[in-house]
Amino acid sequence: MITHPYGPHRTPETPDPEPWTGKAVCATVDPDLMYPDRGNKPAYAQARQVCAVCPVIGQCLAEAMDLEGAAGKDHRHGVRGGLSPAERAELYARQRRTQQAAA
Ligand code: SF4
Repeated sequence: MITHPYGPHRTPETPDPEPWTGKAVCATVDPDLMYPDRGNKPAYAQARQVCAVCPVIGQCLAEAMDLEGAAGKDHRHGVRGGLSPAERAELYARQRRTQQAAA
């Protein structure tokens, strides 16, 4: 099993100090489930189902967007807040366009 460095996809060996992560549904599944291989749509759908019932989806997505910043999709990893790396990169670009339009 891969041990991932941050976020709610933790194992007992990698506790996360953020209090909301204690409610992360993905903490109850195999962490590898949240890191589907690129292009594996059924695996992505399975990971999204985990996020769909997670009570901290908002906090999770906000943290991911914060930590990943302007990273491109190839530098984002796993499903976070119900979104794939490509979807989070697109969300970042959309948010940035909105901010620039408002300035
Ligand atoms: S939204 Fe998904 S990735 Fe985030 S904590 Fe919940 S289950 Fe985990």
